[in-house]
Amino acid sequence: MESFKGESIIDFFNTFKTDLDCLEYLASIKWKGDFRCSKCNHTKFTIRKLNFARDCNLCHHVESPTANTIFHKVKFGTRKAFGIVFEMSATTKSLSSSQMAKRYSISRPTAWLFMHKVRSAMHSSELNPVVGTVYVDEFVYGGKENLKQGRSNNTKKKKIVAAVELDEKGGVKRAYFKRIDDYSSDELGKIFQSHISPEAKIKTDKWTGYKPLKKQYNIEQIKSNTSDFFQINTIIHQVKAWLRSTYSWMHEQNIEKYLDEYSYRLNRSIHKQSIFNNLIIKMMNQNHIGLQKIKISI
Ligand SMILES: [Zn+2]
Repeated sequence: MESFKGESIIDFFNTFKTDLDCLEYLASIKWKGDFRCSKCNHTKFTIRKLNFARDCNLCHHVESPTANTIFHKVKFGTRKAFGIVFEMSATTKSLSSSQMAKRYSISRPTAWLFMHKVRSAMHSSELNPVVGTVYVDEFVYGGKENLKQGRSNNTKKKKIVAAVELDEKGGVKRAYFKRIDDYSSDELGKIFQSHISPEAKIKTDKWTGYKPLKKQYNIEQIKSNTSDFFQINTIIHQVKAWLRSTYSWMHEQNIEKYLDEYSYRLNRSIHKQSIFNNLIIKMMNQNHIGLQKIKISI
């Protein structure tokens, strides 16, 4: 099957009319290269019409398109699962798990768990760190909102550090986020290690926590109230507004998963045509994940 391109939900459901259409799509991704039986390495097979599983001609081991992927044991049907993946990737804001549950006639816990599995596939590989002009700043989320004067250590608020890469025209190219326990250089350093290239030209405000990081990174500390911070402030404002409007309550330990979802869409906004297909491929490459493995806090 050809890979699905586009952002239209009408085109989407016209392409994927049945669960079988979705299984055929998964099979075409899984066995894109040559088939090789996972039990005996034989390369000849028969396709089962019921679910596009491959039946090895030698040992008769049968492998379904969903085996060893996030789609394994999805009981509410592959078409509904595809719909959720499409809404979480190709739309601008996605939906909360309770909205998704209503839309697809599934229970809220089922929607919630599956959406967390999708988010686990959205987690960055950390192989393409931001580079060029990068702004780093921190913000708080939750609890009573007020400005972050003096970096208070209010424990009810979640502390997050953001790194935003700008393009040549000064627009936002990519953004990543990390939850931090405090504003020490050790905690702030986490986003540098995972998401920022040592080649990047980084700008931060004058907070002392950034100073020790200058040994490893090219950091210029400037006054935070300059217009230079306009783009990163806009992104921080947008991510907070999205979290507030979509998720009324979330466990602090899960916040990074929601931030991963936000980054995934934002960082691929110029590749919206292929974002669904690319996410499906990522989900096919991840083993079946249980609650324990994705470390979701309930
Ligand atoms: Zn075999």
